[in-house]
Amino acid sequence: MHRRLIAPGAFAASLLLAIPASAADYSPGAPGIGDPYYPAYGNGGYDVSHYDLRLKYQPATDKLEGTATLLARTTQDLSRFNLDFLLDVSEVRVNGAKATFAGSGEHELEITPKSPLPKGTDVTVVVRYSGVPSSKQAYGFTSWHRTPDGGVAANEPEGAWWWFPSNDHPLDKATYDVSVLVPDGSQAISNGTLQSTSSRVGWTRFNWRSNKPQATYLATLAVGRFDVTTGRTESGIPVVNAYSKDLGDNYDAARASIERTGEIADWLAEYFGPYPYNALGGYVPNTDTGYALETQTRPFYSPRQFANGTNVSVVVHELAHQWYGDLVSVAGWKDIWINEGFARYAQWLWSEHENEGTAQEIADYVYASHPADDPFWTVKPGDPGPENQFHLAVYDRGALALQALRNRIGDEDFFAILKGWPAKYAYGNATVGDFVAYAEQVSGESLGALFETWLNRASKPGGVASPGVGVVKEPKSWKGIAATDSVHERGEGHGHRRD
Ligand SMILES: [Zn+2]
Repeated sequence: MHRRLIAPGAFAASLLLAIPASAADYSPGAPGIGDPYYPAYGNGGYDVSHYDLRLKYQPATDKLEGTATLLARTTQDLSRFNLDFLLDVSEVRVNGAKATFAGSGEHELEITPKSPLPKGTDVTVVVRYSGVPSSKQAYGFTSWHRTPDGGVAANEPEGAWWWFPSNDHPLDKATYDVSVLVPDGSQAISNGTLQSTSSRVGWTRFNWRSNKPQATYLATLAVGRFDVTTGRTESGIPVVNAYSKDLGDNYDAARASIERTGEIADWLAEYFGPYPYNALGGYVPNTDTGYALETQTRPFYSPRQFANGTNVSVVVHELAHQWYGDLVSVAGWKDIWINEGFARYAQWLWSEHENEGTAQEIADYVYASHPADDPFWTVKPGDPGPENQFHLAVYDRGALALQALRNRIGDEDFFAILKGWPAKYAYGNATVGDFVAYAEQVSGESLGALFETWLNRASKPGGVASPGVGVVKEPKSWKGIAATDSVHERGEGHGHRRD
C-alpha cells in the first residue's frame, strides 16, 4: 500500500511546467505496513535485511543505550520514512548524512533524510538512542519486563519498540547481530549463537548472531543473572539454555523441562522436517508474567509455568513454533492460526507419543468440553479479530481443525502436509488461504468447506467424536496441555498473550 501526498494543484502544475519526475514522485513511506488488525504496525517504503544492535544496559537503573544500524532497501521513491520505536533518539544518519527526525503517533519515529531516497537502492540507517524501557508505554502498556536483576523484551505482537527501532511487522524479516555490554556478573541473552564475549573494567560484552531471517517480535533480549547450560542435540545443533539464578522453587522444574529441548526438537523434526536454525535453547528470566513466547531459536519461558513441576508440553509448543511461526511467519496478524493451531496440535502429538491420550481423544475431549452455546465457538480461528488473536479458540478450535483435516484426508497426506509446509514457505510468510491451497494440492481433495466450517464459522461444527461415544474421558495429558494456557493480561484490555 502506498500513500502519496501530493499538494493540491501539483499534478496540474507538473503538466504545464514539466517539473522533473524525481521531485514530484518522492513521497513519505506509509506509517503502517498495511495490516488491518494493527494499521500502525510496521512501515511502508523499505525492507530491512539486517539489524546491528550495539547496546549497553545497566540493570540497577534499567537504562539502555546504544546504536542501531539498519541495512535496508527502498521499495518506493521516499521523501521520508518511519521506524517503530519508543526510546529517546539523539541522532539519526541516513547513508552517512544527518537526518531530521520526530516522534509521532503511539510509536512512530519519522525520519527525513537529507536527500530523498530513490526506489530500489540500498540504505544504511544509524540511530543513536537511550532511555529507560520500563518507563515507556504505547497504547497504555509496556512489553518490557523489569526483573529484580535486569530486564526482558518478549511479547507478541509488540516486543521491539522498547529496545530497538524497526520495521515492526513479521512481513519484514531480517538477520541480527545483537551486542550488549552489561556489568560483570550479569549476562545478556538473545537469539542465535553466542559468537564471543569480552570483558573490560567491570563490564562484559555478549555478541549474539541470528543468521537466518527473523521477525521483529521474535527478537529477544534478557539481561540478568543466569546459570547457562550448553549441549548439543543428537542431530548436532548446539543448545544454550539460561535460567535466572533467582527462580526459587521453580528452578529445578524449569531445568527438568527445558533441558529436554534438544530431544524435543529432534522429535519435532520427524514431523516438520529438519530444524531450520544453527542454534537452539530456551531461557527463564525472573519475571512474574505467565506466558511463554517462541522467540527465534531461544524461546522465552515464565517461571510460573513450572510452578506445578515439569511442563514439557510448553516446551513442545514453543519449539513447534520454530517451524510454525518462525520459519513460516504470518503474512498478517489475522493468520495467527497458522502459528497457534499447529503449535497446539504438536502438543497433542506429543501426548500421543507419551501414551497420554491420542490427538483424537484430546479432540473429542475439547469438542465435548464446549457446549454449542459456549462463546468459544463464536471465535473464528481463521480471522479472530485483534481482540481475540490469542483467544483459547485459536489454539484449541484451531487444533480441532487439524484433527478434522487428518480424519478427512488420512494420516499419509496429513503428515506429508505437516512436513511439506515449513519447507514450502521457509524463511518467509504465508496466509491461512495459502495453507488451505497447499492442503488441497497435496491431498488432491477439495477442502474449502471443511476449513470454512472449522475456521470461519461462528458456531459449533458437527462432531469429530467417534459415533456412539458417550461420556468423553479427560486424557491423561490434558492438565499438562491446559497448564500452558496461562493468559497474560497486559492491562487496559489491549489483549492477551498465551504461549
Ligand atoms: Zn503459541
